[in-house]
Amino acid sequence: MMSKFYCKWCGSKYSSVSSLTSVSCSKNPEGKKHALYEGSEKSQYVCKCCGSKYSSLSSLCSVSCSKSPTKKHQPAL
Ligand SMILES: [Zn+2]
Ligand SMILES: [Zn+2]
Repeated sequence: MMSKFYCKWCGSKYSSVSSLTSVSCSKNPEGKKHALYEGSEKSQYVCKCCGSKYSSLSSLCSVSCSKSPTKKHQPAL
């Protein structure tokens, strides 16, 4: 069972999906709340738009992406 849930826009970590999706996210370009990252926990996260690799979801999310339609890196699942 997964016990940690991450926001795909900012990398914030929550212990449940319901708490993650009830909190507003400053980096979500589509809406106001955190959105669940549906991939598994990894040692390395890759942006699906440009292929850049990061050691954590939060560092991937903190950098802008020149190839992404949202201007943010988007983690591959
Ligand atoms: Zn977020
Ligand atoms: Zn990228």
